[in-house]
Amino acid sequence: MIGLGLTRGFLVTLRNFVRSPVTIQYPDRHVGLFGAAKEAGMNPFRFLVGRPGDSIKAIAGLATVPVKLEQSPRFRGNEFTFFEDRCTACASCAKYCPLGIIEIVSVPGKIDALEGESYKLEVFDIDIGRCMFCGLCVEACPYDALHMGTGFEQSTYVRDELILTLDVLNAAEKKPSSFYRPQFEENAFDPFAETIENHYDAGRHERPSDEDMKKRWVDERWTNDD
Ligand code: SF4
Ligand code: SF4
Repeated sequence: MIGLGLTRGFLVTLRNFVRSPVTIQYPDRHVGLFGAAKEAGMNPFRFLVGRPGDSIKAIAGLATVPVKLEQSPRFRGNEFTFFEDRCTACASCAKYCPLGIIEIVSVPGKIDALEGESYKLEVFDIDIGRCMFCGLCVEACPYDALHMGTGFEQSTYVRDELILTLDVLNAAEKKPSSFYRPQFEENAFDPFAETIENHYDAGRHERPSDEDMKKRWVDERWTNDD
């Protein structure tokens, strides 16, 4: 019918005009007196009496509170979670990185150093300033030592600070993403609410012990060659 399209168009405009906004303020949002009191864990009256300065700010619309965004456990942030105890220094992650931004230096490990049947890390650097967070290094890691992280607020003014060294990785909170890690999803692990303290809980299977590696790469190899 002539004219109906126009009415429908106006109705769409009207519906969007009255619906609540979908914009989320980040990293802080403005709150009034009630919001500020709730954030402080107090009722508004106690907040008004106990913190008059903050109350005036809140009434004037100047108070802000940090916003916590809800994200999927599979979210990939711009950091990594690393469990050195799971790492064999095999360098698969470095080989698979299309940008070549993982630097690994390893030295012979504990048993039969000259045979080199086990290795330990001396350098493990990831330059996240050049990383595209594709996750290929994480997919390539055979022992689930390297995981995508869930933190995403790593911006800095100095490029050198974007290099994650072994010390930085070891000291970081272990909040790995569930990306390419079905064991986390099966256990309903929530990186935004909990951490993984024990490296045994981070993988599907364990790295071989030094004794197993010696058996596989030294004892059996020499036996087979004979
Ligand atoms: S996420 Fe991709 S670009 Fe970044 S280090 Fe891993 S493989 Fe390289
Ligand atoms: S993080 Fe994984 S892929 Fe990289 S060196 Fe260690 S065990 Fe190998």
